[in-house]
Amino acid sequence: MSGFQIFNLKKQLQNAIHDLGYESPTAIQEKSFKIVLSGKDVLGIAQTGTGKTLAYALPILENLKFSNQVQPRVLILVPTRELVMQVVDELEKLSKYMNLRILPIFGGVNINTQRIKVAEGTDIIVATPGRLYDLILSQTISTKSIKKLVIDEVDVMLDLGFRPQLMNIFELMSDRRQNIMFSATMTDEVEDLIDSFFIAPVKISIAVSGTPLENIRQSSYQVENFYTKVNLLKHLMEDKQTFRKVLVFTSSKRKADKLFLEMEEDFGKECGIIHSNKAQSTRFQTIENFDNGNNRILIATDIIARGLDLSKITHVINFDTPVFPENYMHRIGRTGRAEEEGSSILFSTPAEEKYKKAIEQLMDYQIPEIDFPKDVKISDRLLAEEQPDDYAEKNPSRNTKDTEKGASFHEKKAKNQKVNLGGSYKQNIGKKYKKPKTRGDKTYHKRQKLG
Ligand code: AMP
Repeated sequence: MSGFQIFNLKKQLQNAIHDLGYESPTAIQEKSFKIVLSGKDVLGIAQTGTGKTLAYALPILENLKFSNQVQPRVLILVPTRELVMQVVDELEKLSKYMNLRILPIFGGVNINTQRIKVAEGTDIIVATPGRLYDLILSQTISTKSIKKLVIDEVDVMLDLGFRPQLMNIFELMSDRRQNIMFSATMTDEVEDLIDSFFIAPVKISIAVSGTPLENIRQSSYQVENFYTKVNLLKHLMEDKQTFRKVLVFTSSKRKADKLFLEMEEDFGKECGIIHSNKAQSTRFQTIENFDNGNNRILIATDIIARGLDLSKITHVINFDTPVFPENYMHRIGRTGRAEEEGSSILFSTPAEEKYKKAIEQLMDYQIPEIDFPKDVKISDRLLAEEQPDDYAEKNPSRNTKDTEKGASFHEKKAKNQKVNLGGSYKQNIGKKYKKPKTRGDKTYHKRQKLG
């Protein structure tokens, strides 16, 4: 238990850690402890498996005194029921020698039983957002008593469309609380949430290893725009001997859908797509098809791909250059596993060049550039967000801010307005992307025709 001495933990926690057999804190635990204990808002960037649960649980338990109070003082929000049970299990083990009441809350079970449990009194609630909000609305749970709010796996939570529920819960909470947030990846949506609700959070991240695995060959192409990237990807994928199992990353669900429609035209059933707007059953089928080799190409978003255990991927294609360099490391780590040779190919437009530089800086390695193949057509068709600025300026009806912020901004905005991206979204998406999607697109095609 020697390694944990630096935290100067109370005896009950020391004993629990001893029983668990943990010898020393993990990197994220070491970095988080004092800051979480200090009461400041915290944003931790850490993946599952790094010991992130203990990273927030230890300092919270260290501070939590015995109380008879009925309403909870700590609220931990997680995206899934499985995670609720996992976190509760870990908290119970840690608080084995303390007198604490920990209550799991999630949907799909009898709400009245949960009401009775809340009324019996609780110190820590671990919950999924939907059911928790129901209990708050029916005044079973009072949010005013909550002094510490933990949101775990924020990126997954937002990707599953829980933003409205989170916002509703935040609105009802006391301002005098500590916010602790953990996310495996940084996304625009996570940043946006932080800006809206956090007070100067301290950011803690464990250095993503900037050293890529030696058995991953990296290369990059400079590509003009989205549709030229499509042409290049199609060209590469024609070499079926080399590109045997390919994971293609896009930065948003919208781009993934758009790319899938393009690729499907040429590669049909060889191509699969996976992101969080797809039904669970479809996701399982897609993964199976990719894993057993029926699909050679899988298009995925960063967040969904994280939880997938895929083997023998020959190539990772970074169709978009990730805005956050850590995501590049996560992406390329999907290939070159277990002694296998893997390759990563990065596509960057001039606008994405700065992100590529950040990645290279993180790795302290310049990604070798391959000349753009002569027989690949350079497309002059542009997405709305790729339109040049002067075009935007000549169109006062167009919001230039949208253009600057790019694709993810559009997605974010649409998502914020729409509470449910379920059925109709999925049904319409195919039709929708065949048509010009925004006023910018439409005008552009008109201009093309006139020109
Ligand atoms: P997490 O990232 O929170 O999902 O934790 C991953 C696993 O690591 C869990 O099974 C924990 O019980 C375990 N764990 C957490 N902290 C430590 C530690 N300091 N030493 C050894 N194992 C740990």
